Amino acid sequence: MKAVICEEPGRLAVVERPRPEPAAGEVLVRIRRVGVCGTDFHIFAGKHPFLEYPRVMGHELSGTVEAAPEGSALAPGQPVYVVPYLACGRCAACGKGLTNACQSIRVLGVHCDGGMAEYLCVPERNVVAVEGASLDEAAMIEFLAIGAHGVRRGGVGAQDRVLVVGAGPIGMAATVFARARGADVTVMDTRADRLAFSRAQLDAHRTVMAGDGDAARLTEITAGDGFDVVIDATGNASAMRRGFAFLAHGGRYVLLSVVRDDITFSDPEFHKREATLLASRNALPEDFAEVVRQMRAGRVPTGALATHRGALADAPGLFEAWRAPEAGVIKAILEV
Ligand SMILES: [Zn+2]
Ligand SMILES: [Zn+2]
Repeated sequence: MKAVICEEPGRLAVVERPRPEPAAGEVLVRIRRVGVCGTDFHIFAGKHPFLEYPRVMGHELSGTVEAAPEGSALAPGQPVYVVPYLACGRCAACGKGLTNACQSIRVLGVHCDGGMAEYLCVPERNVVAVEGASLDEAAMIEFLAIGAHGVRRGGVGAQDRVLVVGAGPIGMAATVFARARGADVTVMDTRADRLAFSRAQLDAHRTVMAGDGDAARLTEITAGDGFDVVIDATGNASAMRRGFAFLAHGGRYVLLSVVRDDITFSDPEFHKREATLLASRNALPEDFAEVVRQMRAGRVPTGALATHRGALADAPGLFEAWRAPEAGVIKAILEV
C-alpha cells in the first residue's frame, strides 16, 4: 500500500509499505480522507516536542471498514471515523473515563504511525460508524470535537457572553459550538480574513481585531462586566496570560491552547472574580457525538471550512504550499 512518511523534518515521501494485519480486537480501516492540521505542520517543520522520525502523520481520519473482528457490530464497507486517541484503559485517568487525558495516551499520527496511508489498523473502540455525514465531514469531526470539548469544559450556556481568542481552526470550532448552545459570541484575532469568516460562516455576533484599542473595545462590548467564558485558542503564551483580564466576575477561562511555557496571573484579580481556570485536552466520545449531531442539524459549515484539498500522493508538494499563511488554509483534506 501507499503511505506518506515524514522521514525527517521538512522531508515527506510517498513510500510503498506492506498492508497492515489487524491484531485481535482491531479493525482494518481503508482510509479515504485525512484532514491536515496544525499538529501535522508542526511535525513537518520539526517543531513537535516529543516525536520520533520517521513518522506517518494523519489523525483526522475517515474511511470504510475493510475487515472487522469477529462479533463486531461494524461491517465491511461501512463508513467510519476514527477517534485517534489510544488510551491505555488501565490508568487512574482512564478509570475516571478521561480517555482524552490518559496518563500514557498515544495519538495516532503523533506518538505512533497514523492514517496518511491506504490502510490502518485501529482498536475497535476507536472506530465509530457514521451516518448522515460525508467522508469529508467525517474527517473533520476530530478537530471540531476539540472545540466542542472546550465549550463543554467551559459550561457554555445560552445566557453566557463568550469571548473566543484565536480564530484558527480550533477557535473556529469553539465558536461553532458556543453558538450552537445559544451563547453570545465575540471572536478576537489578528487576521482580518479569519474574523470575516467567523462572522459570515460561523455566525459570530461580532469580532475584534487584536491590537491597539482591543481592550477598550472588549470592555465596551460587555459594558465593563467582562466575559462569562473566555476560550483561548491562540497557542501564544502572552495572549494566554492576557486573557485573564477579560473575565467577568464568576467567569470561566478555558485554555484550549497548549504552550511550552509558564502561564502566570494576578491572584488578587483572579480571586476578586472567583474565576475558574480550565484546561481542555483532546476530546471525549460524547464530544465526537455532539459534532455529528450538530453536523446533521446543519450547524457546522463544513463546506466553507474545507478550503483546500488534494490527493494523498501529492502530499509532499501540497504541504509546502499549504503551510504558508498566504495560502489561507482553514482545513485541508487529503483524498486517499
Ligand atoms: Zn488535528
Ligand atoms: Zn490510561
